[in-house]
Amino acid sequence: MKAKVAVIGGGLAGLATATCLADSGCEVDVYESRGFLGGRATSWPVSGAPNAGLQPESPDESELVDNCQHVLLRCCNNLLDFYGRIGVADRIKYHSQFIFIEPGGRMSTMRRGCLPAPAHFAESFLGLSFLTFHEKIAVSRAMGCIPSEWRSRTDLDRITMLDWLQEKQQPQAAIDRFWYPILVSAVNEKLDTMAAAHGLQVFWLGMLSQSDSYQMGLPSVPLRELYSEQGLGPNIQIHYRSPITGISLLNGHVSGLESNDRLIEADYYVSALPFERVQALLPALPIQWKVFEHSPITGIHIWFDRPVTNLPHAALLDRTIQWMFNKRGGRYLQLVVSASRCLTEMSKQEIVKLAVRELSEFLPAVRLASVEKAHVIKEVRATFSAKPCLAAFRPDADTIFPNFFLAGDWTRTGWPATMEGAVRSGYLAAEAVTRAAWSPRNFLIPDIG
Ligand SMILES: Cc1cc2nc3c(=O)[nH]c(=O)nc-3n(C[C@H](O)[C@H](O)[C@H](O)COP(=O)(O)OP(=O)(O)OC[C@H]3O[C@@H](n4cnc5c(N)ncnc54)[C@H](O)[C@@H]3O)c2cc1C
Repeated sequence: MKAKVAVIGGGLAGLATATCLADSGCEVDVYESRGFLGGRATSWPVSGAPNAGLQPESPDESELVDNCQHVLLRCCNNLLDFYGRIGVADRIKYHSQFIFIEPGGRMSTMRRGCLPAPAHFAESFLGLSFLTFHEKIAVSRAMGCIPSEWRSRTDLDRITMLDWLQEKQQPQAAIDRFWYPILVSAVNEKLDTMAAAHGLQVFWLGMLSQSDSYQMGLPSVPLRELYSEQGLGPNIQIHYRSPITGISLLNGHVSGLESNDRLIEADYYVSALPFERVQALLPALPIQWKVFEHSPITGIHIWFDRPVTNLPHAALLDRTIQWMFNKRGGRYLQLVVSASRCLTEMSKQEIVKLAVRELSEFLPAVRLASVEKAHVIKEVRATFSAKPCLAAFRPDADTIFPNFFLAGDWTRTGWPATMEGAVRSGYLAAEAVTRAAWSPRNFLIPDIG
């Protein structure tokens, strides 16, 4: 298919659109406002970051740190397909166990045993020390309802996950210590605000449908290093520092994009921007903008003067900090708080103090260590809030303008705001472009479940 396509935004949605269309023979130009790719799934240089003793000390050297730890599960099949297309699939390292730590340091792990799906967690689940026997029975009962209800119930988008858990008579401790840590990080929303459809989707696709779908993939390089022009291929031209500042319309079509005082023309245009940016550029789109809200994520990066753990990662129970990732040698830890509205008003120093205090309850070695450096990234607009009744308002890739299409994690992907959702949106937008060009192609890979 020979066509010239302009993609706005070099995040995962834009890059996924671009790779599919370039593979179909289009000439693709990606306009990205920043000087690098990846959007929210990227890395920043932090200067003077101690290098944890793995390289010669050089206090002035800057280090690329991820915006925040990004985690994928093996069920993210479009994201994995995209990594394959750009040649970086081997840079994702899979972890086969979830580790939970209680304050005081007691640890439990969940991993696949010898039973087939959906019973593959049975043995390790029964061994979890942070749930009582009664709580485990209650959780198992609720999990047993997921495979049938996820497909058959029609009200799951209208009720919250907490409504569903209460309907299933889940004890408070099971909600707080099992459902909450898994779901708040997967959907980036609290249980009383998240649509039950997304909660059940995470458990069905990620935990129950196949015995390896839960495996957690972590990039072994800084996120930004996953995206290179070489990996994207020769038919894609990236225009860095090229913010699109206007979209021109003529006779019901998009006639061009404005950037840095020039007009960009193409046959087809794809916006792969977050919703608030699209609204600013093209408020005429018939989208109920008001229903879209943000949910924040806070990433806390701490470099200690000595190793404080040898665990690769862990969910930290009953405290503000939800997850810990060991980024290097147990000295550099990344801590994540999803749906972190409680931290929005706190200063960065207060957040670091809280994080170190809480960490010392889980990892005793923290009490003897000193913090060499800390860095807090509060992403107030991290994702859209996956609240009930939003699904119907998420727009399709096709718009009222026949040569203009939408991608982005907030569009109608069926997924919450995730890297998988962003790539799915890109694949769907690319399919829409090929349909408009009378050369339809399929790129989307269906869910495993
Ligand atoms: C802190 C944090 C942690 C997260 N953790 C996870 C996780 O663990 N797992 C997971 O799957 N997902 C996670 N996510 C969500 C995931 O990062 C996003 O869903 C996904 O990256 C969104 O991709 P996108 O392409 O839709 O949007 P974006 O990544 O926002 O891309 C939009 C791009 O457009 C560019 N842009 C903006 N305005 C213009 C303009 N006017 N002209 C040109 N370019 C423009 C931006 O610079 C950006 O590069 C996390 C997000 C955050 C913020």
